Amino acid sequence: MLRVSNIKIDIDDSIELVRKKLCKKLKIRDGEIKYYSIYKESIDARKKNEKISLVYTVDVKVNNEKRLMKFKPKDCVEIKTNKYRDIKVGSEELEHRPVIIGSGPAGLFAALLLTQRGYSPILLERGADVDTRTKDIDDFWKNSKLKANSNVQFGEGGAGTFSDGKLTTRLKDIRCEKVLSEFINFGAPEDIQYSHKPHVGTDILKGVIKNMREEMINLGAEVRFNSQVTDIQIEDGKLVAVVINDKEVLPTQHVILAIGHSARDTYRSLYKNGVEMEQKPFAMGARIEHPQEMINKTQYGKFADHPKLGAADYRLTAHADNGRSVYTFCMCPGGSVIASASSEGHLVTNGMSEHARDLENANSGLLVNIETSDFESDSPLAGIEYQEKYEKLAYELGGKNYNAPAQLVGDFLEGKASTSIKSVKGSYQPGLTMTDLSNCLPDFVVEAMRDGIVKLDHKLHGFAMEDAVLTGIETRSSSPIRIKRDSETLESVNTKNLYPCGEGAGYAGGIVTAAVDGIKCAEKIIEKFSPRNI
Ligand code: FAD
Repeated sequence: MLRVSNIKIDIDDSIELVRKKLCKKLKIRDGEIKYYSIYKESIDARKKNEKISLVYTVDVKVNNEKRLMKFKPKDCVEIKTNKYRDIKVGSEELEHRPVIIGSGPAGLFAALLLTQRGYSPILLERGADVDTRTKDIDDFWKNSKLKANSNVQFGEGGAGTFSDGKLTTRLKDIRCEKVLSEFINFGAPEDIQYSHKPHVGTDILKGVIKNMREEMINLGAEVRFNSQVTDIQIEDGKLVAVVINDKEVLPTQHVILAIGHSARDTYRSLYKNGVEMEQKPFAMGARIEHPQEMINKTQYGKFADHPKLGAADYRLTAHADNGRSVYTFCMCPGGSVIASASSEGHLVTNGMSEHARDLENANSGLLVNIETSDFESDSPLAGIEYQEKYEKLAYELGGKNYNAPAQLVGDFLEGKASTSIKSVKGSYQPGLTMTDLSNCLPDFVVEAMRDGIVKLDHKLHGFAMEDAVLTGIETRSSSPIRIKRDSETLESVNTKNLYPCGEGAGYAGGIVTAAVDGIKCAEKIIEKFSPRNI
């Protein structure tokens, strides 16, 4: 197979031109092509006021590839097939069905692979199924009623369900191919396979997750909602059972622990049981909202309204004078800022969008790195305590009703409290309390954000727009803890049979990397054990 890059067409050209240009580049006739697929598509908007191009990389099989390569065609390399290959099944006997805790991307993909290979796993999820969860979240956003186990962080699909569903990753791992093709199998748009910025959107993601669940149940998995693992039982350094909802004891031999970064009660219980964990840096800041139209104009110039381009995005970083990094995170074009709390009396924001990305505002996290040396104790749980302290302050500053504290960028830069919203209507529900965000963030974070906003405006003109809205606070960009695991077996370093997995355990950041980590942990069980007795 050959991979041919740098095939450029104009934004208004038809996609068929790519194939024609490919033939020209390789100096072959169309009839010589045996297989053809688009591997990547990207946008070249560097000359945005003259023209915008689409740039393609394609995979192609042709007659006589060896002969063709002798002529060293430009931008063309030989590649091996890039399909995920199932690993060999082991021979040891399993006494119990494997258990997976958490149905986020890590848990779901671990469960899916084990199910496909005949291991009939049991998937335990503390939250509700995605339909019930949608209603519970709606009630929270409209009426400030937070459900402890059914919210933006907890429930079927995990933290990524109510998200933008961006599937971008810098990870170079063959398992990414499996993740994307399974997403497509279960209903995601096919362009995620090649788009340079693949995205699904909350509306479609919910259906994908339901389809996955149904397939797993049909193939013999058990999926249990409202089943929180409240304790674990360890004998001779080996995990032997999990306790569900403080009453049911489920004996098990293998547990994939994919609990996400917000299960603070579970971390505390694992710590109490002696499972080894350590502090991990994370980031903190607020969501920033601008008019999407302004972002489109800045990124695409006179092509801003072109139907093929959709809502523009950005990704920005700067070094603040106080030594911190400031960066935009999880940008949601045409989306909304959402209330993402998972525990009473704590306030957290994040962002999401539907597949169409057609709402008025663009938003992204504006974050500053927090080092473990900023934490206030040496305990592995100190990062959680740090998050809790500021989330509580934000809750109080917002009015103790899950309204979020917010401030206009102009006021934030001047260091004065805001009193009302102006031209940019903040999208956060249940509502905003205009105030001074410096009262619920560490001083160094505020300082770095102020400096960062001005510096980022040089990269994306309009970023420091006075009326842009900052909604506080964002604390859950990644886990503040790492549960230590052996790099070979992927088991906890001091609790055998326990596989810390995904974002919560500190081994992933984002939907795709979490899913890949889930697959890796499932592979460890597959390569050692046979599903014969299950
Ligand atoms: P999670 O998805 O957090 O899943 C953990 C699951 O475990 C949860 O369902 C939880 O209920 C369950 N659980 C926890 N404790 C227990 C217990 N004791 N017993 C039983 N079940 C338990 N990433 C992207 O790549 N692209 C995006 O566009 C994007 N947008 C996001 C938007 C929002 C609003 C949020 C919150 C996150 C977003 N992320 C995004 C991040 C992404 O969602 C996470 O990186 C990813 O979901 C982590 O996967 P995970 O499986 O490790 O954990």
